[in-house]
Amino acid sequence: MPRPSWAPDALSLFLELAALPSPPGEERAVADRVLDYLRALGLEADEDDVGGRIGSTMGNILCRIEPQDAESGAPLFFCAHLDTVLPEAAIEPVVGEDGFVRNAAGTILGADDKSAVAAMLEATARLVEEDRSHAGLELLFTPKEEVGLVGAAAFDHSRLDARLGYVYDHAGPIGEVILGAPFQNRIDVRFQGRAAHGFTSTASSRTRGLAVVVCPPSRHGALTPDAAQACGKRPPATRLMSSAVSARS
Ligand SMILES: [Zn+2]
Repeated sequence: MPRPSWAPDALSLFLELAALPSPPGEERAVADRVLDYLRALGLEADEDDVGGRIGSTMGNILCRIEPQDAESGAPLFFCAHLDTVLPEAAIEPVVGEDGFVRNAAGTILGADDKSAVAAMLEATARLVEEDRSHAGLELLFTPKEEVGLVGAAAFDHSRLDARLGYVYDHAGPIGEVILGAPFQNRIDVRFQGRAAHGFTSTASSRTRGLAVVVCPPSRHGALTPDAAQACGKRPPATRLMSSAVSARS
């Protein structure tokens, strides 16, 4: 079975996937490309129905490649997510003279995690084309990873035959187990107290002590340098000028 005409090799495959914006919940275009690629290879893929429940245009895509030689080893699964962090503008992937792919529009490229998606599909294409011996493979593509592993959490993992697999979403050594990562919490706080100016003699000590501290995290969950510096030293404080004030971080 031939590869699809739009992706004759690994680089063209990655460029095609990267050019399609796929913020969390809007992965449909990339999902369709992945399905098209697998079908061109003569493989069947199944998409579950969690998309509507988790607010995504796609469900989890599972493609099972039956073993060539079940006695030759253990089946494996490979997993990658199809969403990216929010692109701030168009994505125009270009190959530089140094061979690296960058976004000419200057924002994200989406190599997290589309480089893994391209690698998984390329490896599968070679497996099929070269009729290589294997003990069974399962490919799993998930939505909404960037906002809390939402697609993977909704996936019925009992559908996997393989007991061992690799999730390609980290730059560390293969086999490393990830136990933590930068994250983002959203906190809505409503302060209530007596309206007064904090520096006037009429303000009570209780009012003077009440302040609102906001340390905005970046889009990626880590504190921005400014916010980290502010929180590490003296946090910015907003005096309570009215009887109630809301803060969001
Ligand atoms: Zn990722």
